[in-house]
Amino acid sequence: MKVNTKFIKEVKKYGAFDISACFNCGNCTAVCPLSKEDSSFPRKMIRYAQVGAEDKIESSLEPWMCYYCGECSDTCPRQAYPGEFMMSLRRYLISRYDATGLSKFFYMNSWAQNILVIGIFLVSLIFFISYNGDFQELAAKIELAFPAYVTLAIFMYVFTMYKKTILDKSKKFLFSFDFSNIKETLIHGLTQKNFSGCSETDWTRWIAHLLVMSGYTLTLIISNLHLLEPLKKHYGLLDITTPLVFYAAFGIIAGGFVMMGRRFLKKIQSSKFSHPTDWLFVAMLFLIGISTLTTYILNMAMGPDAEAVAISYKINIAIEVAWIIIIVPFTKWIHIFFRPMAIYLYNLKKEKQLA
Ligand code: SF4
Ligand code: SF4
Repeated sequence: MKVNTKFIKEVKKYGAFDISACFNCGNCTAVCPLSKEDSSFPRKMIRYAQVGAEDKIESSLEPWMCYYCGECSDTCPRQAYPGEFMMSLRRYLISRYDATGLSKFFYMNSWAQNILVIGIFLVSLIFFISYNGDFQELAAKIELAFPAYVTLAIFMYVFTMYKKTILDKSKKFLFSFDFSNIKETLIHGLTQKNFSGCSETDWTRWIAHLLVMSGYTLTLIISNLHLLEPLKKHYGLLDITTPLVFYAAFGIIAGGFVMMGRRFLKKIQSSKFSHPTDWLFVAMLFLIGISTLTTYILNMAMGPDAEAVAISYKINIAIEVAWIIIIVPFTKWIHIFFRPMAIYLYNLKKEKQLA
């Protein structure tokens, strides 16, 4: 087999690891809670990367199984940071599943992503503020366009992932209708169960992720079903939307705050090496939570006709426009779909005995 040394240089652009220092001692595999007889985490991936087996890595689902507990990095005697290597592989795979090439461009040029996000936010906000029509109606149309755009992006990613991991090997479309596989996929998707596989479960991280994920999913439901009309209705404590909005905002703000704090302190392996796009992702989530909550509280206090409610709502929708167009399809947000999808495809591979 011809060794391709360029590959490791390419993956290195996605994260701060140094697997060229690895001397194959096996400590990482021994401590990894995911290592089983048939899968050697993370050493198998390290070996593929060292020899430049790009196809093997792109057809692998293992990088999505790893929840970055960091135990492998803690025990590595060579500071090769195998946990960060697995994280970098996930970033690399996102860029490979993305047919537009934008994910790769943003990973390599995070400044461009920041400028685009700020630019789209400002242009949207200026347009919204100067808009003379019924803004509530316009917001409804924008919120209807969000799911169509995101579904298209998810379809592109999921199809490429399916093609690289299943279709290219089987040469035919295969699916699993096995109940236990579907159940496991849903449980992983809803609870991110693998977090609890670490020898010492990092409950803070798990709860922060769960809060952000549930809060954001609720925000999506509220927005896509257009449940909020802050410029038309006056909301009170007894409205059904009140607990929904408060929970969604609390989940995003509290979870986002914990995530940012941990990235800032860099005390645990999973927060040591933040990619600039990680910061933008958490900061934008945080802003969505705050602007949604502010709009709602202002509406409760001042009514739907107040100027402050309109301004806050326009800021909120402008943030969401930038978030949906740039962050959702082209950064790690999309990984919330890859993880459960990887579980499904992994079990499908086993069921159909695909190597
Ligand atoms: S623990 Fe470090 S040196 Fe040992 S095999 Fe894993 S990455 Fe390589
Ligand atoms: S970060 Fe944790 S789950 Fe991922 S490879 Fe290392 S030990 Fe295994």
